[in-house]
Order: sequence, then C-alpha cells, then structure tokens
Amino acid sequence: MKIYIEGYGCAAQQSDVEIMKGLIVKSGLEIVKNPKYADIIIISTCSVKNTTEQKILYRISELQKNKKKIIITGCLVDANYKKIKEYFPDASLVSTHRITEIHKVIKKLEKENKVELIGRKNIPKLCLPRIRENPVIATVQISEGCEGYCTYCSTKLAKGKLFSFPENMILKEIENAIKSGCKEIRLTAQDFFAYGKDIESNYLSLLEKVIKIKGNFFVRVGMGNVNNLIPYLKETIEIFKNSEKIYKFLHIPVQSGSNKILSAMRRKYTVEDWKKVVYEFKKEIPEITIWTDIIVGFPGETEEDFDASYNLIKEVKPDYVNVSRFSSRPGTEASKLKQLNTEIVKERTKKISEISRKICLENNKKWVGWEGEVLVTEKLKTFVGRNFSYKQIILPNASKKDLGKIIKVKIIDSLPSGLVGEKI
Ligand code: SF4
Repeated sequence: MKIYIEGYGCAAQQSDVEIMKGLIVKSGLEIVKNPKYADIIIISTCSVKNTTEQKILYRISELQKNKKKIIITGCLVDANYKKIKEYFPDASLVSTHRITEIHKVIKKLEKENKVELIGRKNIPKLCLPRIRENPVIATVQISEGCEGYCTYCSTKLAKGKLFSFPENMILKEIENAIKSGCKEIRLTAQDFFAYGKDIESNYLSLLEKVIKIKGNFFVRVGMGNVNNLIPYLKETIEIFKNSEKIYKFLHIPVQSGSNKILSAMRRKYTVEDWKKVVYEFKKEIPEITIWTDIIVGFPGETEEDFDASYNLIKEVKPDYVNVSRFSSRPGTEASKLKQLNTEIVKERTKKISEISRKICLENNKKWVGWEGEVLVTEKLKTFVGRNFSYKQIILPNASKKDLGKIIKVKIIDSLPSGLVGEKI
C-alpha cells in the first residue's frame, strides 16, 4: 500500500511525522510524495492559530478530491474533535497522543472505511523507527503537554497535562541519533523548563547527562517558560556557559510587556522575571542569542499595554521576535472575552514587527567580520549553517559535501533573519 503524509506545526509535530513515516515503512508499506499515487492520505494538523486551522481545513478538502481514504491526526483532532468530525465525517481520526499506532490504523483500513483512535495514552515518542526530514538534525521530544493553563492556548487543549518522557529513553534516542550521523540535537517540548516536574527529575539533570554523551554534536535547548527556569537560573547559566555542546541560544516567550496582560493570560511570570533571566544570561554569556514571542491584541490590551510590549522589545533588543496577532481559539477562556478591533490589532502588529526586524538587523550587524566554526545543517535555497550562538548563517559558497561538517567561515553581511558567511 502507498501512503502519502503531510504535516503542519511545531518541532514536536515534525517529529511525529518522522515517527509515523518510520512506522509505516517498517510495517512494509511505501511512502509516496504525491497524494495522487497514494492509497491512504495522512494529514498531521496544528491547532495554534485560526489562520493555520483555516489553511489546513481547506487543504484537507482539497486532498479529499483524490477520493482516497484520509487519516487526520495532530492537535486539531484533540483540540477541536467535534468540528473536525463534522467537517470530515468520512475521515479516520487519530489523536496526537496515538500516532505511535498509525500502522495499526492503516492495517484496519484495509477492511474498514474509517477508524477512530481518540483519547490520551501516555506513550513516550522515543526509540521508535523514524525517517528524518534532515539526516543532520535530530528532533528529540522530551515531554508532551505542560503544567501551564494559559488562557489563550489551544495547544493545552490538545496536549494536556505534563507527561515527561523517561530520561533513559531520551538519552538512548540521542545516542541512536548520533550513531546515525546527526550533528544537531533539538530538544523540544511545549515547555522545556517544565521537564521532569512530574517524575522527580528536572531539565538540568537531563542536560547534564545529555552533554556527557560521547560524540561531536550540538544541543539546541527548546522553547520554555521563565517561571520554570528561574528556580535554576544560576545553574542553567553555568551549564550553558561551560558546555561547548550547548548552543548559546535561549528561546523564552514573553508574550506581553504588560504585567496586567500577563496575568490575564495566566502566564506565571512577570515582565521583571523575564528581563532578569535575559540580563543575567547576557551578563554571563554576551553572545547568547535570545528568541522571544509577543502576542498582540490580547483581549483588554490598551494602548498603554501595547506600548509596554513595544518598549520592552526596544529596551531588551532580542535577536528574534515571533510576533503573533491574538487568535481567539475555540474552547479557550480568552475566546470568551471581548475581542479587540481587528484594525487596531493589525496596526499594532505592523508597528511591533517593524521595530523587531530593525533591532534584529542591528544585532546581526555586530557579527559582520566574525570568523569561526560553523556546522552546516541544511540546504534551503542555499546551504545554511549555525555557529556556537545558533546564528543562522547563509553560506552561498558551501557545497553538498559540507553538509553535516564543521567549516571555517567569515561573516560578510547581515540580514534581519540571520547572517551571510563565506567559507574560508
Ligand atoms: S505553557 Fe501555556 S502556552 Fe505553553 S503549551 Fe502550556 S498552556 Fe500553552
């Protein structure tokens, strides 16, 4: 049987697609690149934003024109089951928590028209067959869900409460990835710094073991919330500082510069907490790359609240700001609040995106002239690499044989999104 699979969403979703491909091929089936030639079509969905959901719903209706059996999985199935079932009554539905049984669902579809595998099962998505998107990069999920209850978040509705995967399985997954030739390990979670809170472990204990694994590889620490980092701030800075394996990179969403809005979002930290983490890291590791996220237009956001977000970005100068317009997601508390005027939100989003891009470019300009080692990680339009600060470096004169290798580079130009380097 021929299977076509298409995925949307975050690193954890991409990892799910790699695992589903691995399980499908291991069960003797074939993955095809074109839905026309498939017997079964799988679409792995994302529920974070309305725009993403609309795009996916439209895509599924397009794929249905192939008149093939369709399996819908991913966060939309768990966060918005009723709607998906209503829109696509003939589709098979598989919870994001049950993707490790995808090959069994396909088997059943040989005899049945549709199958449903719904409801949570705590299964570590590790040490399973997988087909990597990129042989250089291993995305290693360390937990599912979180212990937050942010009022705007539909991921919570899909992923639920925190389930930390066992340390020994995470370490085994990384060892296997390194043996298979991976050079970059992306540790991913809904909240990296919440890891282990449900199993008497913590992210520090895990990181200490990861960096002891033999081999030449870099570790990218995933996105996390500062309320769970602050209890270990000193130790975390130490391990980042002292381990050459850990990219000097920190992705800590702030979401708003207004404490009033942060508390309405039920984010368990203040603006001051977030700034403390950023400034402590910058003091000890000046080349640290800071990524953050801002939501614009959360219900109740006044001009003053927005100015607080705008001024926070101007003051702290993060290296990348993922600016999102507030998206009222069904089933969330924030969706029941009075929504702001769309034009105002559009205007504010444009304003904060402009200042963010300007700051990112200014930060990147400081790297022009830098010379050093770069790991060539992927081929986009051109080859791209990362240096110790996880700076994205476009490498026009690198070639296929450099993929997965560390090369010497000189930075010759800067962009808002990264740097341009010359192989020397
Ligand atoms: S921490 Fe908050 S935003 Fe992040 S996944 Fe959990 S509920 Fe959603």
